[in-house]
Amino acid sequence: WDTKAGPVRVLVTGGSGMLGKAVEHVVMNEGLKREGEEWIFLSSKDADLRDLGQTKAVFEKHRPTHVIHLAAKVGGIYEHMRDNLLFLSDNLRINDNVLQTAHDTGVTKVVSCLSSCIFPDKITYPIDETMIHNGLPHDSNFGYSHAKRLIDIQNRGYFEQYGRRYTSVIPTNVFGPHDNFNKDKAHVMSALIGKTYKAKMEGTPVTVCGTGAARRLFTLSWDVGRLIVWVLREYDEIQPIILSVGEEDEISIKDAVEMIAEALDFKGEIKYDTSFSDGQLRKTTSIAKLRRYHPDFTFTPVKEGIKMTCDWFVANYNSARI
Ligand code: NDP
Repeated sequence: WDTKAGPVRVLVTGGSGMLGKAVEHVVMNEGLKREGEEWIFLSSKDADLRDLGQTKAVFEKHRPTHVIHLAAKVGGIYEHMRDNLLFLSDNLRINDNVLQTAHDTGVTKVVSCLSSCIFPDKITYPIDETMIHNGLPHDSNFGYSHAKRLIDIQNRGYFEQYGRRYTSVIPTNVFGPHDNFNKDKAHVMSALIGKTYKAKMEGTPVTVCGTGAARRLFTLSWDVGRLIVWVLREYDEIQPIILSVGEEDEISIKDAVEMIAEALDFKGEIKYDTSFSDGQLRKTTSIAKLRRYHPDFTFTPVKEGIKMTCDWFVANYNSARI
């Protein structure tokens, strides 16, 4: 966009979370912020986005021209299973309030965040962006998944009725600084980092759930942050785009644990509790669309990302979510 055409104010919802902090890092510390732009990072303390009045007030206060919408009620798998209805209703409210208010106040572009866990449970691999609505999501998080899927439907509606260019991105297995490292709430990478560090401090073995054979695509939050800013500036489709490392970077849980042990200098025993299921052995997503638009993007090697995240976790142990 052209900042000479008028002020550019980018409002980032969920600015205090892992991805919000990653966007803040790349914008403020890596020079992605352009002259004449103002960036505002919100937390739930600035506005509870489940509430329409608070959402309107925060938009009126900052008058954004662009929005990166990352705020969501997210939780660990057991929280989802216990309370699918709450994950559905909170996320429906948050997304509807943000998109409706963005439209009412003339925001020209919104980039919202979906998630790879919203894809149909029974599907052929590799998964791509066209398959979101092709079947029911996994039972364990049906509430969160349906709320997220509706963002894509809302974007289509705002485009067809009002010509709004509101779009969405689909990150897969993101990890990095400011993540939740609590073993019951965290995603797999951060849970393993938290567990391994605790085992190191207590001089105990670390126990990994499952055989370690499952393979996943792990993407560093800072890379996703860089790509979200690119999507905001350059990507013009309404349909979502997957933001993830490619199939060639897929690693097993066992590989991840070994990289974490090396990064944290953990010399104890690593046990695999095979009474736990491995989940799906692979959940490969295709990044053909991203490669078509952005062939030159280089992802941080996962080993380097793990080392950086472990160093951050150790340095911020007292303030991290554990
Ligand atoms: P975090 O849990 O780290 O951050 C969530 C953010 O949402 C926080 O800033 C939180 O604010 C804010 N928030 C939650 N509820 C409300 C509310 N009612 N009103 C206003 N703000 C609220 O999540 P991530 O950074 O990991 O995720 C960001 C987005 O990315 C989400 O939409 C998520 O679904 C998506 N995503 C994440 C993936 C991952 O692997 N982490 C993968 C794929 C998608 P506060 O800090 O004040 O609580």
